[in-house]
Amino acid sequence: MVKKFGETTVLQGLNFQIGRGDRVTLIGPSGSGKTTILRLLMTLEDLTDGYIYVDGQPLTHEERGGKRVALKPKQVSKIRKRIGMVFQQFNLFPNMTVLENIIEAPIHVLGQSSDQAKTKAQELLDRVGLGNRGDAHPMQLSGGQQQRVAIARALAMDPEILLLDEVTSALDPELVGDVLGVLQDVAATTDITMLIVTHEMQFAQDVSDRVMMFDGGRIIEEGHPDKIFSDPDNERTKQFLQAVL
Ligand code: ADP
Repeated sequence: MVKKFGETTVLQGLNFQIGRGDRVTLIGPSGSGKTTILRLLMTLEDLTDGYIYVDGQPLTHEERGGKRVALKPKQVSKIRKRIGMVFQQFNLFPNMTVLENIIEAPIHVLGQSSDQAKTKAQELLDRVGLGNRGDAHPMQLSGGQQQRVAIARALAMDPEILLLDEVTSALDPELVGDVLGVLQDVAATTDITMLIVTHEMQFAQDVSDRVMMFDGGRIIEEGHPDKIFSDPDNERTKQFLQAVL
């Protein structure tokens, strides 16, 4: 795949596969294209060239008669529904309660009944340790609590793929542990495919079974976290890890 912003190519000739149920962490210096990959998967950015397939199905474009053809919005949204994303800045709807935030998409996108969505939302709030905060508004919660609501909101859509974009970067250090704990629980108790961009290397090591090191829009090294974090082959990876660890 290729992604350009104007004349600037940020991802070039990128080609990778992620297996069902895999937990893959993307690491690399700021500006290397990690967030752009998640945003492309979420269809928040347009892919400039190439294809993305989810479970063998094209996400935004397909090859037809040797040509690259854009799919219809309806087709795109059908597959897009199978993917959830949690953002660095939580992105909760400020004018809705916590519960309303979680039930919005299940009702309007999946067509669940209000009761059904509320029952599931309450289960998820319990699971992220916020069972009694359903009536609160996001602003009344700490950043860590808001982020746990955002995780519950993503899970309410029953995603097959969960994209996590630096979900602890905007948090005070003392709030990071709770959020990572929730994600570790998700990793341990579900078979959701997870694609994680993080600077929390210990978390990456604990939760992922593959690490991809990015630099300048390319994967320069990938492998099992035990190998990448303790004995990377690539000089650039070594430098990067020395700087962040
Ligand atoms: P990372 O997540 O690794 O920090 P990003 O994917 O955010 O990197 O960014 C990759 C490159 O793309 C950077 O050079 C960034 O400045 C550029 N970029 C990202 N989003 C945009 C945008 N909307 N418009 C122009 N350039 C962008």
